[in-house]
Amino acid sequence: MIFKCKNCGGNIVYNPDKATMCCPHCDGLDTEEKLVSTESIRTCANCGAPMDSVVLEHTFATKCPNCGTYTILDERVADKYKPDLILPFRVSKDKAISLLRDEFGRRVFTPSTFLNNASVSKIEGTYVPFFMYDYDTESEYYGTGTKVRSWSSGDYEYTETSYYDIHRVMDADFDKIPVDASDYMDDTYMDLMEPYAYEGLEDFEEKYMSGFLGEKYNRSEEELASRAENKVASAVEGLVNDSISGYATVTKKSMEIQSAKKNVDYALLPVWEYIFRYRGNDYKFHVNGQTGKVVGKTPVAKDKVALYGLTVFGLITLIGSMLRLLLAVVM
Ligand SMILES: [Zn+2]
Ligand SMILES: [Zn+2]
Repeated sequence: MIFKCKNCGGNIVYNPDKATMCCPHCDGLDTEEKLVSTESIRTCANCGAPMDSVVLEHTFATKCPNCGTYTILDERVADKYKPDLILPFRVSKDKAISLLRDEFGRRVFTPSTFLNNASVSKIEGTYVPFFMYDYDTESEYYGTGTKVRSWSSGDYEYTETSYYDIHRVMDADFDKIPVDASDYMDDTYMDLMEPYAYEGLEDFEEKYMSGFLGEKYNRSEEELASRAENKVASAVEGLVNDSISGYATVTKKSMEIQSAKKNVDYALLPVWEYIFRYRGNDYKFHVNGQTGKVVGKTPVAKDKVALYGLTVFGLITLIGSMLRLLLAVVM
C-alpha cells in the first residue's frame, strides 16, 4: 500500500515533529488516502518500476528506487505478521542529523575534517521488530548469611561468626520485556540504544510506517522466548539480592524460579540508521528514533591523540621539575 495526498497526489508520510501524517509536497495535514495493492507487489504502485532490488526476504516497508515513494507490503503487515504495537518516530531526520553533529563535536578525538569530508551514503529511518514478553514469576531462595562480632579481653582477641538461614519467597510480574527479533540489526547496537520509553507504545497503524523502512520479525516468538526468560531470571536474582542486607557474607544455596508466559506482543521500535563514508571506510551510527540517543564509533584522529599526549606529558614534566625545585629549597 502507499499513502497519497488528497490535495496534490504526492506521497504522504508520517511527520515525527508534528506527530501526524503530513504531505511534504503541499504541507497538507491528515489528507492521506490509503491505496491498498490488490496483488503481491513487486512493482511500484506509483510509477510501475520494479522493486526487487529493495524488497528483501524480511522487508515490509521500503522506498521505490525510481520515484522514492514509500511503500508498505500489504501481505507482510497482515495476519500473523500484523504488529500489535508501534513506537512511532519522535525524532525527525533533521533533528537526528543535528544530534549526530553535536555528538561528533563533543568527541575529543574525532578528526575535525570528519564532519566536513564524510559523505553520507545512507540515512534512513527503520522500524526494528521486537517481541515484548509478559511473565509472572514465583521464586524461592535459600541461602546462608554470616555476621561477625570481634572483641578483645586481656591478651586475647575474640571473633564470633554467627550463621543465619536466609529464605525468600517472591512473586514478581514483568511487563514488556523486549527481545530484538531481527537478525539484521545487531543486538549490541539495540542494547546500547536502550532505554526506550515503552509507555509511548501505540496500537499499530500502517500510517506510522509511511516515510520509513522496516522489516518483519525473522524468528518466531517461541524461538526467542529463552532470551526473555534469561532477562527475567537475572531481574529476579537482582530483586532477591536487593532484599538481603545486613550480613558480612551471603552464600546462595538454591534458587528456583518458576515463570509463566502471560502475553507476547509483536512491536516495532524506531531507529535512524546512518552510514558515513570517510577515507574509504564506512562508519555506522544509530540514533534512537524516540529519545535521540546516539550510538556509534567515530574515527580517531592521530594528530589529535599526539597533541593530547604531548599536553599531558608536558604537564607531568612541569610538575616534576617543580617538585625538584621544592626539594632543592628544603634541602
Ligand atoms: Zn499534498
Ligand atoms: Zn516508483
